[in-house]
Amino acid sequence: MELLGIEELTAAVDGIIWDIVGMDANSNLSTDFGAYCDMNEVDFAVVVLERMDSMFSQFVKETFDVTIEDTIDLWCLSLLHELGHLQTMDFIPNYIQLANKLEKKVIDKFSKIDSICYKYFSLTVEYEATQWACNWIKDNPTKYDEMRNTIAKALEDFYKINNVED
Ligand SMILES: [Zn+2]
Repeated sequence: MELLGIEELTAAVDGIIWDIVGMDANSNLSTDFGAYCDMNEVDFAVVVLERMDSMFSQFVKETFDVTIEDTIDLWCLSLLHELGHLQTMDFIPNYIQLANKLEKKVIDKFSKIDSICYKYFSLTVEYEATQWACNWIKDNPTKYDEMRNTIAKALEDFYKINNVED
């Protein structure tokens, strides 16, 4: 099945990104959220992984006092987290980045366990990215509202054009 409206959706996401971190960064539609710091690119998804995401919501509430109320909040925080990787990676020493990379290989294997999810979120590179995202939400309430509205509309259009029911 070929997806329609990818260009429009990506343009909307790029617009959001440029407003937040400048026009050097770009986005691509993918099956999950991700960051490519070397290329200043992030991947975004149009569906959310519910189990992992409920753990993530719990973690950001407990750790940064940011409340995730719906899937749009979750989508926004996921994108901001990836932008957080682009913004913070240069400040994290290489030996910590390397150690985290190795730890992730172990953690991924066991990620069905709640405490392991928390261990993943607490890795320096992950923690820093989430903290950057949460601080941005707290510091920019008006822009955050705009971001919510923009992506809610863009995703609604995307679902509609592809006949996805939510
Ligand atoms: Zn991450």
